[in-house]
Amino acid sequence: MRADQILFPTDAGLYCPKGGFHIDPVRPVERALITHGHSDHARYGHGAVMATQQTLEIMRLRMGTDHAGSEQVADGRMRIGDVDVSFHPAGHVLGSAQIAVTAGGCRIVVSGDYTRAANPTCVPFEPVPCDVFVTEATFGLPVFRFPDPATQVAKLIASMAEFPDRPHLIGAYALGKAQHVISLMREAGYDAPIAIHGALKVLCDYYAAQGVELGELIPATADEVPAQLVIAPPSAFASLWVQRFRDPVIGFASGWMAVRARARQRGVELPLIISDHVDWPMLTGTLTELAPSEVWVTHGTEDGVIRWCELAQIPARPLRLVGYEDEAEE
Ligand SMILES: [Zn+2]
Ligand SMILES: [Zn+2]
Repeated sequence: MRADQILFPTDAGLYCPKGGFHIDPVRPVERALITHGHSDHARYGHGAVMATQQTLEIMRLRMGTDHAGSEQVADGRMRIGDVDVSFHPAGHVLGSAQIAVTAGGCRIVVSGDYTRAANPTCVPFEPVPCDVFVTEATFGLPVFRFPDPATQVAKLIASMAEFPDRPHLIGAYALGKAQHVISLMREAGYDAPIAIHGALKVLCDYYAAQGVELGELIPATADEVPAQLVIAPPSAFASLWVQRFRDPVIGFASGWMAVRARARQRGVELPLIISDHVDWPMLTGTLTELAPSEVWVTHGTEDGVIRWCELAQIPARPLRLVGYEDEAEE
């Protein structure tokens, strides 16, 4: 069976007609399979949602218990309509999964967001042999080579030692990145209390309840925050909240910090290159390892990945064009 008859993009998102479901749909649909809890993948208002237990719990925490008509926990190999479906760890954030869809002897793996870098807060990426691998290309250019995150945390610790009187405010997204940074600090032996912005509390509590070691976290809400290290979502830096800190060192944890101009533009004094996405060597290494007969590329710099695939003699196309080629030829 042709892969682009099993899964293809529609206005609502990637659709599987034989299974009657969408994967990470951007509009409310009858049945949605969700790779992970980030808001561009997990949305409100689907009829039925299937995801890992942790992703379902994260969706409830972020959107309320009524986020969908019904929920089903992904578990093992499941038959949905005329296709087989299974979820496999993606290494991106807690609960994140790749979704494998198999029909007529053809398996497509939708990786969602993924990384191959070790991350102490979640289960590592599981390579799943497949005919078609759907990859994101957020950092899909050869310039993106992320350093070992331990070196970035060492940079933060060195700055805190150099400026003991300055609070260090680190921007990090609420789901995944904040807990990743905190847990890297704990791994590096930093055991003082870390202050967190109120918007991070629910998810930090959830990570801790799931067994991720975050150590002592205190609220960064009082006028005097008794911690030198403060983690906050990026939005907090544009709010009044930030004004309670005198002479702060502003840092930001993101793969985008690999681009110096971006760090400067955001006024970031301490850029920390810590990403939960694959960089170029991890992305191309994954394609080499999986050796799929075709690659579909989405989210980001598709051209760079498609060019690399051409050189590696792996057929590749942008996901948005899958299923549209025949029409385009008319
Ligand atoms: Zn994500
Ligand atoms: Zn994403």
